[in-house]
Amino acid sequence: MIRLESYVYGRWIAGAARPSTLVNPATEAPLAEASSEGVDFAEVLAHGRNAGAALRALSFGERAALLKSMAKTLHTHREELLDLAQQNGGNTRGDAKFDVDGAIGTLSAYAVYGEDLAKRTGDRRFLLDGDFIQLARNPRFVGQHIYTTRPGVAVHINAFNFPAWGTFEKIAVSFLAGVPVITKPATATALVTWRCVQLLIESGALPAGSLQLICGSTGNLLSLLGPQDHLAFTGSNATGSMLRGTPGFAANGVRVTVEADSLNAAVCGPDVEIGGEVWSTMLRNVVQDMTQKTGQKCTAVRRVFVSGDHAEAFEEALTDALSGVVVGDPTTDGVTMGPVSTASQLRDARAGIDALAAGNRVALGGSAAIDGKNAPAGKGYYVRPTVIVGDNGKAHDLEVFGPVVSLLPYDGSAAGAASGIGRGLGSLVSSFYSDDRAWIGDVVAGAAPWLGRMLVCGSKIADMATPPGMVLPSMVHGGPGRAGGGEELGGERGLLFYMQRTAVAGDRVVLSKAFGIGE
Ligand code: NAP
Repeated sequence: MIRLESYVYGRWIAGAARPSTLVNPATEAPLAEASSEGVDFAEVLAHGRNAGAALRALSFGERAALLKSMAKTLHTHREELLDLAQQNGGNTRGDAKFDVDGAIGTLSAYAVYGEDLAKRTGDRRFLLDGDFIQLARNPRFVGQHIYTTRPGVAVHINAFNFPAWGTFEKIAVSFLAGVPVITKPATATALVTWRCVQLLIESGALPAGSLQLICGSTGNLLSLLGPQDHLAFTGSNATGSMLRGTPGFAANGVRVTVEADSLNAAVCGPDVEIGGEVWSTMLRNVVQDMTQKTGQKCTAVRRVFVSGDHAEAFEEALTDALSGVVVGDPTTDGVTMGPVSTASQLRDARAGIDALAAGNRVALGGSAAIDGKNAPAGKGYYVRPTVIVGDNGKAHDLEVFGPVVSLLPYDGSAAGAASGIGRGLGSLVSSFYSDDRAWIGDVVAGAAPWLGRMLVCGSKIADMATPPGMVLPSMVHGGPGRAGGGEELGGERGLLFYMQRTAVAGDRVVLSKAFGIGE
């Protein structure tokens, strides 16, 4: 069995004892084991902090070149990584590509942002925020806001569902900002992350100490973080809330960003023609969100709001589309949706379906146990695509992390849609389908405070709009409230989490020279 070692203070370390076992969720066959017991986390932190100087010394152009070479290394080994993602994640090949290609694509995108920054900054290692502000009657005395890289480390803790993309969307941003990373994948699906890091270390391209990997628990690492350090966490709201309360975080001002649970929604505008192009796009997006990664995407739709005649027609179209889904071992022919990733996810998904269904109607699927096609009888973590009709309140409160949606009635008004969105208490993304400009204006204004991202899809873009479940490096990812209140990506915006904004007041001529601003 493969032993996942941690890469810390310049060497690979196998945990001392009590390893967790990683399995293939399609068959429950053991694949690997991991433990970080015995890792000295104070040394990990010191090693990371020391490495920061080398990373900060690189210009934005040099950091861009580093990201490009990382993307190239992963791309060279893409087939092997896809294979590992299928084995350890229960992914179809398409799901595996979504994760692995997402990682490579985000590294490449941030390489391009770095090249753009290099053109604007030259040799400068910090960013300007806005222009000079005149602070006195004499124009010589001015203020300028700048962003400098914070000389700490970034601890990245990731969820089980995107072991490649989740890891590298964070690393790409950190590295471009010049901050060394200690990354920790969710243990149950760490195989892909571990192999990616192994490949990158072997490539020799990374500045020493810039990337460390913890396979297993983070031990006392978080309690050692200080005022220039960062924690970027993705996972459940419960874990995120607990980690925010880590002793020392508040006192030391450790920067924390959290990406957590999300009750994303799709809303059908009252003007949408049943069976028309916008309708079909909405249907396609809902089906994709439910089945891609077996619904285990933080951005997947959980609530579908439909009004009037749309309700019955959408239920019929959705259940029809989902009845063709073949659940089973995703490495075998004919299977279109794999298992959920772990035994505890299976348990939670089945209990969640029961909670959503209480007093409502199950139009498709349900929580009963099933065998997967081409999987050993009684083995594997399989869930049926499930559609629940009706609103017992739970759909706005409970994230069921699987192929499950609730069809919820609303009155068709923009205010009704916005209020339904708000009942989720903060989500990553929601999609709105309509060509009615007045309705769209009102729904955007009403729902945006509850959302990190919105897709407004009408007939002119129905055939080209990226699905709402797809996170793009150019757009911010994160959401208010229950979704954690964090923000990642968004092009250059993502770098600011790792940088300090300082207002500098002084002599316009001196600051112009010092900051390399042509005057
Ligand atoms: P989780 O159980 O909260 O675990 C997330 C991560 O936290 C894992 O790496 C886990 O490590 C680690 N962790 C748990 N306890 C910890 C502790 N005391 N100290 C340090 N690390 C700790 O979440 P999950 O089950 O992996 O992921 C599912 C959840 O993530 C869903 O709720 C989903 O919505 C959310 N999610 C959000 C986004 C987003 O971008 N907003 C993306 C993906 C997923 P171990 O595995 O070793 O326990």
